[in-house]
Amino acid sequence: MNKQWSKLVSDIKELYEKSNVPLHEPTLQGNELNYVSDCITSGWVSSVGQYVNQFEEKLAEYTGVQYAVLVVNGTAALQMALKAAGVQANDEVFMPSLTFIATANAVSYLGAIPHFVDVTEKTLGLDPKKLEAYILAHTRFEGGLLINKNNNRVIRAVVPMHTFGHPVELEELQRICHEYNLVLVEDAAESLGSLYKGKHTGSFGKASALSFNGNKIITTGGGGAILTNDESVARYVKHITTTAKLPHRWEYEHDEIGYNFRMPNINAAIGCAQLERLPYFIKQKRMLTNVYDQLLQRVDGVSLFKEPEHCESNYWLQTLLLDESVDRDEILLFLNEQGIMSRPIWKPMHLLNVYKECPRMDMRVTESLNRRVINIPSTPIEGMI
Ligand SMILES: *Cc1c(COP(=O)(O)O)cnc(C)c1O
Repeated sequence: MNKQWSKLVSDIKELYEKSNVPLHEPTLQGNELNYVSDCITSGWVSSVGQYVNQFEEKLAEYTGVQYAVLVVNGTAALQMALKAAGVQANDEVFMPSLTFIATANAVSYLGAIPHFVDVTEKTLGLDPKKLEAYILAHTRFEGGLLINKNNNRVIRAVVPMHTFGHPVELEELQRICHEYNLVLVEDAAESLGSLYKGKHTGSFGKASALSFNGNKIITTGGGGAILTNDESVARYVKHITTTAKLPHRWEYEHDEIGYNFRMPNINAAIGCAQLERLPYFIKQKRMLTNVYDQLLQRVDGVSLFKEPEHCESNYWLQTLLLDESVDRDEILLFLNEQGIMSRPIWKPMHLLNVYKECPRMDMRVTESLNRRVINIPSTPIEGMI
């Protein structure tokens, strides 16, 4: 590898003061231990407890939504959000092909079918212009429903995903949803704390999903949440994620086949402590972006991806955009061998065996970005601010 990339490697090691730099590690230096100790000494470790209520309230307050409902992981959050939004078996759901597989899996668990849409290089997320042109060419309206002309299935919803924390063009997507009677459900698993025109991602959809997996901007070990402004959605997801049990002092009465998806109090305790520190994590990540931007000025054939217009990103994972002439795998091999953990963006869903038969449009931008996007170490650096 050339001198420029070698210099970048030594700069990153110096920045992190480590010879092996992970992609993203949890930072657990706040009240995590205090709150977890409190769960254990009080005995409230399971799915009922003050931290569950407190984390739900604080999350809703922070993101500016009416309701947050905690669940066991982000995939379950998305599945429940989609179910509450009315997605049923044999429906189709528009979503990016360039996403983590959980977005497509959540749709599949409901018996529905992902319908893949290309992305734009402006946001790394769904391309509203391309989506609308595609809708006009390949669908028809019937009884107020959008129908796929090729197979007569109902297209029920659109699930944008805010890649690495960068918001998609939400206003445009809201307009399209309104115009074609689609429900907007945000996969905001990566974008807690990111703003679109001053409003939090996750507050635009009928319902949205967050993830608190170990690698996300805040973690509860494992966990997720559904955000919504709709009281009936909030009530319904709380009900079905607690086995759809009707409240009664002793009787076991369940009014549908529900799920055991509630987050335990012990995980919510970690979440409360992490959320207290989220503003600092975001500040640190945004400073890290500035530092990387400086370092990358000296490397040819690559640029740092920056937040889209009108947005403020949480910069969850720092993102390099390579020129077409640069060999992605050669860079990945070099960085990883040198102790700088780096990863490519996900293999697009339409290229995976399990999803290759799903309906989709032309994937030019998705396939180009797949060859050109890599993530580099992004853990917030304590003491940077
Ligand atoms: C992490 C993630 C999820 C799923 O979250 P889990 O908590 O791991 O189930 C869903 N979608 C995207 C885009 C993610 O990055």
